[in-house]
This record gives sequence, structure tokens and C-alpha cells, in this order.
Amino acid sequence: MAINGGAPVIDRPPPSWPVADEPIRQAILESLQDGSWGKYDSAWTDKLIDRLKELYQVEHVLLCSSGTIAVELALRGLGVPTDSEVILAGYDFPGNFRAIEALQAFPVLCDVVQGGWVLDPAEVRKAMTGKTSAVIASHLHGQIAPVQALQEILGDTNIPIVEDACQMPGGQVGSRPVGSLSEVATLSFGGSKLLSAGRGGALLTNSAEIYQRAKIYNSRGNEAFPLSQLQATVLGPQLETIGSYNERRHERAQELIRGTAGNAVLHPLKQVISQESYLPAYYKLPWLFEDVKSGWPRGDFVNAIQAEGVAIDVGFRGFTRRSNKRCRQVGPLVNSRIASQQTVILHHPALLQESEYAARICQAIEKVTSSF
Ligand SMILES: *Cc1c(COP(=O)(O)O)cnc(C)c1O
Repeated sequence: MAINGGAPVIDRPPPSWPVADEPIRQAILESLQDGSWGKYDSAWTDKLIDRLKELYQVEHVLLCSSGTIAVELALRGLGVPTDSEVILAGYDFPGNFRAIEALQAFPVLCDVVQGGWVLDPAEVRKAMTGKTSAVIASHLHGQIAPVQALQEILGDTNIPIVEDACQMPGGQVGSRPVGSLSEVATLSFGGSKLLSAGRGGALLTNSAEIYQRAKIYNSRGNEAFPLSQLQATVLGPQLETIGSYNERRHERAQELIRGTAGNAVLHPLKQVISQESYLPAYYKLPWLFEDVKSGWPRGDFVNAIQAEGVAIDVGFRGFTRRSNKRCRQVGPLVNSRIASQQTVILHHPALLQESEYAARICQAIEKVTSSF
């Protein structure tokens, strides 16, 4: 193995991100020439809003400074009351827990699906009380959250879903864009995400009321959580390529899933939605790594695979070890604990490479895991 001084399977650094292609260069030049790079207002943010409305088939788009604040703005837009309960997965992006706390509401942890990373609708049913004010459902690691099944469980309770689509821009379920499946959704334009402007985010909704509440919270004479004109300029061209890039990533992801399917200690992604036609977007491609069975701590596996030239890292820490003063746990959260301890994720730039690169990654995984 490379970690013991052998030759790595891939002897160049992992592909970098973001990539400044010609359309992005052109957009930045235009922004320089029209002076908008340094101005509060220009047509660039308006154009971005219009394009997002069109792509997501939504009535209202609020641009903001990050995906993290977009989740908080979504909860504020919903009017989530102080001391109410907001359901989220025991394994999720850390900022989502904090967003609930920012509203002085109480996080309620629900388990994720077996062998996966998204909310289990059956667990959400057990978690609902008279105090439940919202559910946060994140599409994570290329796994599409079962939003429709969640809506069926919520039935006529009027409990809304915040669809966190920060990891899945351009995803599709049937004919619907991921991010248009519920009352309100969020996007991220952070520097590692599939749509990158260094920083930035957006809230998407069909509800004038949600939009107005979020907008008023953001308005303090000036915007409190703004997205700049320059950020908007570089996002425009990326919205044109997101669909074809996602298709390419999906092909590579399927090659990697197939290529590791027989591995005894790594378990690849499986979709859990009932719809037959879908296109996920992969911010990360995940596996569960069975540390006990392999006899290797997950960190050692990650170090060994990185030495082979593969950009695989550990997943989120999850919330299952948070004290019951800060949250309520619904059941033993078995799958969330497994996700927290066993998730390893491949960073998305690898998925835009040729098939040959995906084959090398499979080879590196096989090399490392067969040496246990
Ligand atoms: C990245 C991410 C966010 C937050 O986005 P930022 O723009 O980085 O603040 C929220 N939710 C999920 C699931 C994410 O992956």
C-alpha cells in the first residue's frame, strides 16, 4: 500500500474544485466592465433569481449569504414558534441543528433509513407531537430524501417540510426538481458545493407568506445576509451546465457503486424513494465502512485510501451523542449512529473525470480493503 511506502494507484493529486471555465471567466470580465463587481445592486442578482425560478418552477427566490442561513431563514419564513419542536435526522449537516436552536425551538432527532443517510418516514411518524412545527429533510450524499412519503405521513397536520437541497442542486424526481417538492427549500453556493460562488445560498418557495417573512428578517435597512453581484455573475453559467454535469456524475457514481458492490466491508448507496425515474446530484458519494468487521478504525482506512490518491474522507459527526438537554431522541437512532460512525465520502470532482478514473478508484478501494 502507498501508506507503507508502495506506489499509489493514482499518482496525481485529486482534481480540484471549483473549475473556472471560459463562461465563468467571461462573466467575471463582464462584471468588471459594467462595474457591478463593486456595487450593491445590478441586474446580475435579478437574472439569477429569474433563472432559479425557471429551473425550480417556484414563485419566490430569496438569495442569501449561505446555505446555513438559508435553512434558518426557511424556519423563520415558516414562523416556527419558540419552544416548538422541529424534527430532523440524527445524521445531518451540523448547521441544521443550530438553525433550530437559533429560533429557540427544540430539535427532535429521528432515525435515518437503514443503510443510509436520509430521514425514515416511519420514524417521523413516531416523533410527531402537538408541538411539532416543522420537519427538516436533507437530501444527503446523493441519496434523495423520501419527501413524498414524508408528506403522506404528515397527512393533513399542516406540518411543513424544509427541503435541504444544499447537496443536490439540479436533482430530479420524476419531472420535478429536487428543491421544489415541499413548502420551502434551500440551496448552497459554498466553495466546495456543486454550484460554487465561494459563499452564498438561496431559499425557494411557492408561498408568498414564507418568502415575505424570510425577506423581512433579512431586511435591516440593508440586507443582513446578502449575496453579492459578483457571486451572482459566476453562478449564471454554472446553472447552464449543472444538468449535463449531474448526468455525467451519475454515470460515474453508478460505475463506482457497481465496482464496489461486492466489497465485504464497504456498503454503497441505494436510493429509497418509490419513484422510478430520478436523477440525483452527488456532492459526495457515500459508503458505510464496517470498521468492526474489517478490524480497521475508519480513520486508518481513510488515511490509506488517501495515500492511494483518492479524495475519500469521513462523513458528518451526527447528533446522536448530543445531550438530552439540547434535543429529544426518538428511539435508539441505530441507523444514525451507524451513519455517524461508518460513513466515508468521495468528494464530487472525481465524478467529472473519465470512466478510467472511476475504475482506478475501485482498484484503490479493493487494494486497501483486501489488505485488512
Ligand atoms: C453545505 C450544506 C449546508 C450549508 O451550506 P453553506 O453554504 O456551506 O452554509 C446546509 N445543508 C447541507 C446538507 C449542506 O451540505
